Amino acid sequence: MPAADPPPAQPLAQPLAQPLAQPPPAALPPLEPPLGLLAELTHRCPLRCPYCSNPLELEQAARELSAAEWGRVFEEAAALGVLQLHLSGGEPAARRDLEAIVAHASRAGLYTNLITAGVSIDAARLAALAAAGLDHVQLSIQAPDAATSDRIGGMPGGHARKLAFARMVREAGLPLTVNAVLHRQNLDAVPEMIALALELGAGRLELAHVQYHGWAYRNRAALLPERGRLEAANAAIAAARAALRGRLAIDEVAPDYHARRPKACMGGWGRAVMVVSPSGAALPCHAAAELPGFTFPNVRDATLRDIWEGSDAFNRFRGTGWMPEPCRGCDRRERDWGGCRCQAFALTGDAAATDPACALSPHHGLLEAALAEAAASDGAFHYREMRRQPGATTPLSASSCSSGRMSASITPGGAA
Ligand code: SF4
Ligand code: SF4
Repeated sequence: MPAADPPPAQPLAQPLAQPLAQPPPAALPPLEPPLGLLAELTHRCPLRCPYCSNPLELEQAARELSAAEWGRVFEEAAALGVLQLHLSGGEPAARRDLEAIVAHASRAGLYTNLITAGVSIDAARLAALAAAGLDHVQLSIQAPDAATSDRIGGMPGGHARKLAFARMVREAGLPLTVNAVLHRQNLDAVPEMIALALELGAGRLELAHVQYHGWAYRNRAALLPERGRLEAANAAIAAARAALRGRLAIDEVAPDYHARRPKACMGGWGRAVMVVSPSGAALPCHAAAELPGFTFPNVRDATLRDIWEGSDAFNRFRGTGWMPEPCRGCDRRERDWGGCRCQAFALTGDAAATDPACALSPHHGLLEAALAEAAASDGAFHYREMRRQPGATTPLSASSCSSGRMSASITPGGAA
């Protein structure tokens, strides 16, 4: 039996029209360049993870930016001040021209991190990517054992390929980060995931709880963990951090549904990261494409600098001037920037609402309702149906190993 769908987005219960507790804060802080660019090269992926945070409607291969177009984007990013480039998807190796894309990034002087499921790159291709200038590999795992991993990823044999790929990465002399998206069906295996990361020779392990966007929102009831198991996993992470200092760095992205205060999603809207979708849409967050009322600019039509500095899409939720109460009068407003806009929309139907992950939000009770629904769920996943795109060599599936996609320096608002 498939799990029941999460309830549809709820309208605002009541307008937030209390008098201001303080004078309105300054509209915009000084604008810094983005530290990171997340390049979603394709939405194609051979896996079908139920927590994928990419949109329900995935972009077609025929609309993807060419390697030359990505090259221009990378030059513009470097000129803007971007330092880190994350090549993601979907599965970036589904692009036959990935080597050319990496070479463009290297020529632009960007530190290049490949975020991959690791099931389709052999040693020869990895060597070609390294020769093209690849700096770092981030490998996603679903669980520490093959049976659970292959069930969650929806790909028989996938786990064995991942392990072989991790060893290739180390043999090629490339630094390796392992990332795992945490949820109810793998949370108890955190100690074994830490052991596996050590065994594979990773220098960093990112453990990020699911962010409930895109396909993950559809599977929310099967993914949300109970609080008690979360506390046990947190204790295991804290103990391992202390014991492994200097050998393995462990980063954790906490789960919003058990929070009292939200995270600064993506470091704040339009503050630290720019995302470019496979067809060139520039977004402040990988999940923002589903927000209504936005026309996201395309890198085919405008420069990255014009988009970053001047577009309505990036300016809409910058700073604090847009905030409603209770954020407007809150002393944390320049620390968490009101939380996640995509989560606010998914839960309340209003992208400008205070993130319900905050206990001060009038909608915080929606999270308790979701946890109660999860407790009653049978845990069955909805998997995306595989379909092959015209001219594509990899089936179109879910995309985005949502979690630790942005490396340790950036905490994506939700995700994995
Ligand atoms: S009220 Fe707004 S600014 Fe204050 S902690 Fe909650 S989300 Fe953050
Ligand atoms: S999370 Fe999405 S993109 Fe990442 S491996 Fe799973 S299905 Fe592929």
